[in-house]
Amino acid sequence: MHKQLASLIASICVVLGIRGSSVAADRPRLVILISVDQMRSDYLTRYGDLFLPASIPDADGRRQVGGFRYLEASGAWHVDAQHSHFPLFTGPGHAVELTGACPYKSGIVGNYWYDRRSATNRYCVEDPEGKIVGNDIKTKLPDVSPRSLLVTTVGDELKMATGGRARVWAIGLKDRAAILLGGHLADGALWFDEETGNWVTSSYYATNGILRPWLRELNASRLVNQFTNAVWNFEKTKALDRVWTWTEASSHSTTGTNYQAFTVSPMGNDFVFELAKRVIEKESLGQIQTEGRQAPHASDLLAINLSSNDYVGHYYGPDSAEMLDVTLKTDTQLSAFFNWLDQRKLLAQSLIVLTSDHGVSPLPAQMRSDAHFSGAIGYEAEVQSSVQRFLADRYGVRGTNSPVKVVEFNVYIDPSDLAWTNAAPSDIHDEVARFLTDTHTNGVYVAYTKEQILKGQLPRTDVAMRVMNGYYPGLSGDIVLVPQPYWIQLNATSKYKSSHGSPYAYDTSVPLLLSGPGITPGIFTEPASTLDIAPTISFLLGVIKPSGAEGKLLMSVRR
Ligand SMILES: [Zn+2]
Repeated sequence: MHKQLASLIASICVVLGIRGSSVAADRPRLVILISVDQMRSDYLTRYGDLFLPASIPDADGRRQVGGFRYLEASGAWHVDAQHSHFPLFTGPGHAVELTGACPYKSGIVGNYWYDRRSATNRYCVEDPEGKIVGNDIKTKLPDVSPRSLLVTTVGDELKMATGGRARVWAIGLKDRAAILLGGHLADGALWFDEETGNWVTSSYYATNGILRPWLRELNASRLVNQFTNAVWNFEKTKALDRVWTWTEASSHSTTGTNYQAFTVSPMGNDFVFELAKRVIEKESLGQIQTEGRQAPHASDLLAINLSSNDYVGHYYGPDSAEMLDVTLKTDTQLSAFFNWLDQRKLLAQSLIVLTSDHGVSPLPAQMRSDAHFSGAIGYEAEVQSSVQRFLADRYGVRGTNSPVKVVEFNVYIDPSDLAWTNAAPSDIHDEVARFLTDTHTNGVYVAYTKEQILKGQLPRTDVAMRVMNGYYPGLSGDIVLVPQPYWIQLNATSKYKSSHGSPYAYDTSVPLLLSGPGITPGIFTEPASTLDIAPTISFLLGVIKPSGAEGKLLMSVRR
């Protein structure tokens, strides 16, 4: 009888697909999150036939693996992945990737916002206590830390679950990307100083005020000069049938007065991968044999931000030969990195996740001239002037202070600068929002007030949902405005030709590829959110989701 019952239960388990301890067995030794800054999901299909094959036999008959197509073939490709928040900037996007939390919980509501108390713009990771470590001189880099991130990351939870033994690192050219991916308990977050050419960190991480010896040696070696004294040649013939934005150039120099020019080229990513390999080696990531670190909690985490794709997109746009070329070179760089991991027996045991913090708009100037859309670069200052004029006409302005500040898509109004102050602030917000929405001035599509957002009075639209997901009380504005398509939040004097930030598909659609232990290979057409990344990685690591996580497990998790 007992045997029959056991047999019945076993049969039910087989039918339901339940396997004993499969999750623990699937635990990756190393999680590598690769965040390609400003990569749209369509690049995977638009340029897919030009990528390296998934598997490449070399001359000795050994297997080499490709880049994007290796991930697609060996892992899960979520073809309809979207960010779920607004605005679509680097700070909020990177905060989402490993927290699973929207800005309304993470507190990262933009790259910048207006700090009402100090009456200044505030950078998203700014912290006067987090002194830059790694330079001999004081440069323009701001002092920073993760203190403004109000939720935990996957790395934080991994640290807590392992008594601090798991190793957690985050790197990239941009401080905000490295810090917001790494979180509060990371062993290190590293970013690049364009003035000195050094990798640096914050005293928040390097509490003794100095870099690790191997990092000091790397900076002293001036490896960076290999990449800054070069020419970026790109092949335009490959681009003939899939590029819309044409320029005469077929090469760009990576040499400049400082170390900035090479970051706008594929060489910037080469330099980041050199650092990634050193972090893995010198910090023994994924090495479970190390004394004092035993299974089951033997996983480590490395987050890598590839910022050069973003700089190239800003300078040349998504439809340029430059964007095609940097994407193809990213494919080659990924392949080289994966093969390097494979030689160290790490590839098969690593969970590799590739995504992006946002997409990018086609060039507004080209959309205007060729496709007859409105749209322009030059937004913040113009909206600020329009609202200023409206308030002056309606209420009068006291003194010389401007009662209005526009930072990214947030409008902040200080009623104390208005002459007629009998009106309630909420009435002023209503009037300004109505003015912006009714006139569509300077490319405004719609404007919502703080009161509407916090009382849940927004319409049930995709755009309004994103606005709510992006609103943090006290940090966000009195009014949030949403631009029409192809209106770009930048100063008109910016050297950039395009940007991102909007709630439209070209900014919200990003790649999402996962390969490694615990992932079912295949193409997944169900809608997926970038909010799902952190809960999925947490599950595969056997740790609790980060504190603000609200996504679901991705369909590609092995059952
Ligand atoms: Zn970005």
